[in-house]
Amino acid sequence: MSFYVVDVALPVPLLRTFDYLPVEGDARENYQPGQRVRADFGKQLLTGIVLGTRDTSEVPTNKLKPLLARLDDAPLLGPRDLSLARWMSDYYHHSLGDVLEHWIPTMLRRGAKLSEANESGWQRIPPPDTEPALKGSKQQALWQQFQRQEYITHRFLTAQGFSLAQCRKLTELGLIEEQTRLPVPALPESVRPALTLNEEQASAVNKVSAVLGQFKACLLEGVTGSGKTEVYLQLIEQVIQQGKQALLLVPEIGLTPQTVRRFQERFDVPVALLHSGLNDRERLQGWRQAREGQARILIGTRSAVFTPLPDLGLIILDEEHDGSFKQQDGLRYSARDFALVRAHQAQVPVLLGSATPSLETLHNALTGKYLHLKLTRRAGNARPPGMKLHSILHQPLVHGFAEPVLSAMQQHLNRGKQVLVFLNRRGFAPLLACKQCGWNAECRRCDARMTLHQYPPHLHCHHCDYQQPVPKVCPDCHSPDIEPIGQGTERIEDHLSALFPQTPVKRVDRDTVRTKQAFDDLFEEIHTGDPCILVGTQMLAKGHHFPDVTLVVILDSDAGLFSADFRGMEHSAQLIKQVAGRAGRAESPGDVWIQTLYADHPQLNLLIDDGYHALALSILRERLDQQLPPYSHMAMLRSECEDRGTAQRFLEQARHILQHWLKQYGQKDAPVTLLGPVPAIMERRNGRYRFQLQVFCSERKALHQTLDAALKQLQTLKGFNKVRWHVDVDPLDTL
Ligand code: ADP
Ligand code: ZN
Ligand code: ZN
Repeated sequence: MSFYVVDVALPVPLLRTFDYLPVEGDARENYQPGQRVRADFGKQLLTGIVLGTRDTSEVPTNKLKPLLARLDDAPLLGPRDLSLARWMSDYYHHSLGDVLEHWIPTMLRRGAKLSEANESGWQRIPPPDTEPALKGSKQQALWQQFQRQEYITHRFLTAQGFSLAQCRKLTELGLIEEQTRLPVPALPESVRPALTLNEEQASAVNKVSAVLGQFKACLLEGVTGSGKTEVYLQLIEQVIQQGKQALLLVPEIGLTPQTVRRFQERFDVPVALLHSGLNDRERLQGWRQAREGQARILIGTRSAVFTPLPDLGLIILDEEHDGSFKQQDGLRYSARDFALVRAHQAQVPVLLGSATPSLETLHNALTGKYLHLKLTRRAGNARPPGMKLHSILHQPLVHGFAEPVLSAMQQHLNRGKQVLVFLNRRGFAPLLACKQCGWNAECRRCDARMTLHQYPPHLHCHHCDYQQPVPKVCPDCHSPDIEPIGQGTERIEDHLSALFPQTPVKRVDRDTVRTKQAFDDLFEEIHTGDPCILVGTQMLAKGHHFPDVTLVVILDSDAGLFSADFRGMEHSAQLIKQVAGRAGRAESPGDVWIQTLYADHPQLNLLIDDGYHALALSILRERLDQQLPPYSHMAMLRSECEDRGTAQRFLEQARHILQHWLKQYGQKDAPVTLLGPVPAIMERRNGRYRFQLQVFCSERKALHQTLDAALKQLQTLKGFNKVRWHVDVDPLDTL
């Protein structure tokens, strides 16, 4: 057997791949790109992905180690997956092995077999010519199930109240047989008909349908309640009819049972789900259902964008502006941007939907790069909510509420409606302070204050999760005169219960709704439509349909108006619009009151009077003046270290390397600008000092070349073992 080595991508940070000798006795043909292998790496045992084989290695033969095992006979990932992963590795300057981990469900990463997704169940076999002699209604009901679906898992049948004995009976009659295999998602009992589209919806559907089968990015800019989902549904229907699969990506928080049901009930095809509420086995099942083409629709959150889909026909990203599409640690990818690359590879359209599109996407639509589709009116009979700024400057407040706001709330409740109070701050109060000496509770690990929580009582740092008991007296001057300042959702809930003793008050934040199940239960409750007040954080804001909420009160939107982040105003406006969009989504018209200290803030007024689009255009003009994204491309190097000086010095070195490279190779027509290093706004977090260096360039290619060269050198810098650092391409958070 002639000598060869196997090129393997391993999940380690190093920006390279590794040569191994084959498993003893393995022929070269046994190795194909996309297979999993087990490899010894330093002291670790890792699962890697084969990229190919080679005749020679740069590593001396006596230093090469053999692979420990080959886990797959057939490749798990195809050439298209591998080429997408390569793109991602290059674009985000991240190790290919780490990137590839995103393509593979956790169980497979740990070395599981594909068959571990299988479940025991029953398969219908072609029935005998004669009518089966079924006894009793239960047996008939069971047979009915098999009429609808050929294969049903044991788990599902038990949940439906059927017993093993009944299944055995059908087996004896020669109708079904026991089989272990990948379960298929259940089909709906009956399929709901499509709605008749209004003119704008029909036009949107037609325009996208005209580009099925080719790559085209499309923005569906539609006010909340304008019926974007119906547009998705009707496009998916066409895709399914063409024998293709559809991929729908939604923000984590938007994946409610109601949303999922809308898709499941519309089509007579299996729908697979992938989200964080699933266990590892369920995720593997969903992944296989999609990859093996059983599922014709895949609905998932950010990471579902990597799922192999053999017949991909369309990608839809709902709420495309949502921050959850960008991963904020490890591989800092944007599922939205990657969806475009993927759609391009597959030559299919990608539809980005939002009421408040990100300025990047809007810019691409305005310049004609994307198809721009608009839904300007609410669907059905719903009218847009009336939005009102209410100045609280020099106004007396009752427990944080202005009098007129309280009476508006009372009116809506009297009409039997629901009221939503939005405050994006959980806990009881953002600050606990001593009235005598001015002490306030600060986190010992962060440059931040501890939030006071009452249920149960404790101080909690929302940045590093550090918790401690509430002091009885001031730790500095021992005065008992310490008090909470400001309000969080817990405190507002208390106030509202006192102000509206007859009305149930429900708080919705990460503390009351810890599990997906709790979230789903609460939403079922709200949907009974009984009058109530909902108090919550942005958990309440996204994509939910609350038909009985007719008044939305936004308590504190001011923080975002003066953010140091250049995206601060954009994100505030998106949030305000999203929250406001919860009002009056059904027959009853809605009102939105925004309490603010800055009722004459020009951009806030633009948003209220002329809408998000008008504000977005105004912000875009500012970005153009300042040459900020989307008019330039940006990357950010971040460093953190327990020693402040070391964190800073690392980025100074980085700057030096970048400058040196730019002096030699920089392009005059695409100058690269460096900003920093500067401390992050919250300089110390979790005991570490944080610095950042921003890199801008008008040309993406020049930016990436520069980064590439610099990162190779940075990886070899000595003396910075204690520094954690990374590069964030197209960062969302610049603070
Ligand atoms: P969006 O996703 O844009 O916020 P939805 O798709 O949730 O809006 O639609 C809002 C409401 O309008 C839903 O109750 C939906 O059933 C209804 N709807 C959508 N399209 C139509 C239509 N063409 N005719 C009647 N009702 C519609
Ligand atoms: Zn004190
Ligand atoms: Zn902290």
